[in-house]
Amino acid sequence: MNLILLGPPGAGKGTQAKRLEDHYGLKQISTGDMLRAEVRSGSEIGQQAKAIMERGELVPDAIIIAMLAARVSRPDLAQGFILDGFPRTVPQAEALDVVLKEKAMPLDHVIELQVDDDALVERISGRFTCAKCGEGYHDSFKQPKAPGICDACGGTEFTRRADDKAETVASRLEAYHRQTAPLLPYYASKGILRVVDGMAEMGEVARQIEAILGTLPRRDKDQGQDKG
Ligand code: AMP
Repeated sequence: MNLILLGPPGAGKGTQAKRLEDHYGLKQISTGDMLRAEVRSGSEIGQQAKAIMERGELVPDAIIIAMLAARVSRPDLAQGFILDGFPRTVPQAEALDVVLKEKAMPLDHVIELQVDDDALVERISGRFTCAKCGEGYHDSFKQPKAPGICDACGGTEFTRRADDKAETVASRLEAYHRQTAPLLPYYASKGILRVVDGMAEMGEVARQIEAILGTLPRRDKDQGQDKG
């Protein structure tokens, strides 16, 4: 099963992708995470991307498409993948079609998480993650159970994304509406666009997504099954 999660920054794509990864063995492919790793490593791509990301703009298609093509060539996608944050422009979507066709990996669903812009600023500006394991938290919605200690791994250091500042969020939303929203009619015309209410509570969003996925076999980590 190969999916795209589409929606503005803060819509919950990363949260839902991680959940699908855990439950079904699908691999999350987040171009944002890949770029942040490049920035941390100081690579050439990272150096090119850093300032663009901090302005809340999109990294050039050529860089992203090459990165994505290399990622889907790795042999760990047998159960399928969830694209989170890619594609973000029509040229990226067209390039993805070509790459997936070459690899005989069809897209099953493109799931749009619909969220009001007003809710996004609060969601984004309050979020932080455990520096050790990446577990996500939020100032208003999800604090660690013991203050300052990660529920998942016991880590005590937390980070906030450089581009989650309120002033950058406005540019990221603008980029979404101008450059990414045209992908909705692109995928609707292919008959694979599905819509879920991203304003609903996290578990309800997950249920709506699972209803779309239908009878996909679960491969929960806590059932001790191989994630593939
Ligand atoms: P994200 O973590 O998906 O919110 O991405 C963070 C930032 O990385 C974005 O604001 C962009 O600057 C950059 N980025 C991530 N994915 C893409 C993409 N598919 N195309 C262009 N820029 C991207």
